[in-house]
Amino acid sequence: MGDFKEHYEAGKSVAVLAAVAGLLFTLNGGGDFGEGVIVAAGIGAVVLATSLLPDIDHQASKPRQAAGRVGIVTVVGGILGLVIFVPDIVDQLGLIVTTFGITGNPSSLGFGVLVVGGSILLASGGEMFDSLTTHRGFTHSVPFVVFLGVVTILVTWHLSSYGGIFAVFAGQNGVLVGVAAAIGTLVHLGVDSK
Ligand SMILES: [Zn+2]
Repeated sequence: MGDFKEHYEAGKSVAVLAAVAGLLFTLNGGGDFGEGVIVAAGIGAVVLATSLLPDIDHQASKPRQAAGRVGIVTVVGGILGLVIFVPDIVDQLGLIVTTFGITGNPSSLGFGVLVVGGSILLASGGEMFDSLTTHRGFTHSVPFVVFLGVVTILVTWHLSSYGGIFAVFAGQNGVLVGVAAAIGTLVHLGVDSK
């Protein structure tokens, strides 16, 4: 199990590699150098941040532990609220699927993602509830890696709609940032498993 310094060092190394990969990927896809640098910076920052994030649920002090738990529950509840009250999110989930080369109606694909995700939640519900409320649980799990990746894509796409420097994160580049978030979290889990 790693301490903050180990997580930071591992996160930093992988962040640099991921940033370089993001730059090359963008240039290879026909983007200009400026776009590549912005994508690389976004990916690097997200990998570093997410490689530290899982420890919100096992900080030493009681208030930090409580805040971490409240934070996780708030995020999960917030996402459920979005799905119920902002159905557009279903279309966006479908659009994520289409960036992997799968074609179809975004609404149908998004609904499919929700059904599959919901089934997994139902199958592991009790365990997940326990881990949500337990010290060092949900944020150190593979479902959290997937969850954070998808949330990061949606947040990044939303940011891209503000335009300016964020505009480059529309479409496939937003998916890259989500993959970066998943990688950062996996780096954290990797350090902890040593
Ligand atoms: Zn940890």
